[in-house]
Amino acid sequence: MNKAWTAILVAVIVIMTSLAGCIGEEESDSIKVAVTILPQKQMDKAIGGDLIEVTALVPSGQSVHDFTPTPSLIAKMSQSDAYVKVGTGVEFETLYMNTILEQNPGLTVIDSSIGIEMLPLLDSDGTVDDPHIWTNFTNLEVMANNVLAGLSELFPEHAEAFAVNHTIYVQTLQDARNTNRDILSGIEGDAFLVYHPSWSYFSQEYGLTMLSVEKGDKEPTAISILEVIDEARNAGVTVVVFPPQFDRDTAEYIADEVGGEAVFVDPLIEDIIAEIEALATHLSQGADGSG
Ligand SMILES: [Zn+2]
Repeated sequence: MNKAWTAILVAVIVIMTSLAGCIGEEESDSIKVAVTILPQKQMDKAIGGDLIEVTALVPSGQSVHDFTPTPSLIAKMSQSDAYVKVGTGVEFETLYMNTILEQNPGLTVIDSSIGIEMLPLLDSDGTVDDPHIWTNFTNLEVMANNVLAGLSELFPEHAEAFAVNHTIYVQTLQDARNTNRDILSGIEGDAFLVYHPSWSYFSQEYGLTMLSVEKGDKEPTAISILEVIDEARNAGVTVVVFPPQFDRDTAEYIADEVGGEAVFVDPLIEDIIAEIEALATHLSQGADGSG
């Protein structure tokens, strides 16, 4: 290729790139909302509809308790119009919220946990508030109300659209709660064992008893695992719940010792509504021995 053609080609590429930039900027008209975890993404997308673009900072497969964001992820936050935090003291927020706000002082923070009654969780400092509020449909409804109020205040021109979407979303939550009540009917009061204590608000909603291998933020010891296996056997546990990233062999070992079945459920998945129903189904199948 001669020099003249190269120059023309470069010019064309520059023009096309800047056009793409313009198109990209037009798309950025949508409201940018950052959230901490993926279950919030499902909720905020449901309420914001096409008007908003939601980014979850803790990616799929990572723990909200120990995920470390890169500086570029925090810098990307500066493009957000609002940050909806879980608000329950999850480590990602307690550790990085100040840095995020320092780099983006104009960022509006919406606390989704206002009005939710926290359950206690035992950890190394004693009893703390259990941060996993999003595994319960009643709590998800309160969170949705807080998101609606926050977004409507920030973008009053869209308040009506948000309210319509919110009504539909809340109906979905209420239907899902009723479906799960049906699935779990007859096993109220039953106990199940979880590895990580993410499901106490779920248990509360259906009158179940959650036992957990991990106590708060402590890694279990060999002795504490044996103790909880004993406790689970005595409580008649038939289902042991692990996060999907958990080592399969260890999971099978613990479940076998308990005399139950190992199931893998992700409390940090985007479609938390379906995942909660999956857990209810596992528990009901475990209870009647068909699973
Ligand atoms: Zn957790």
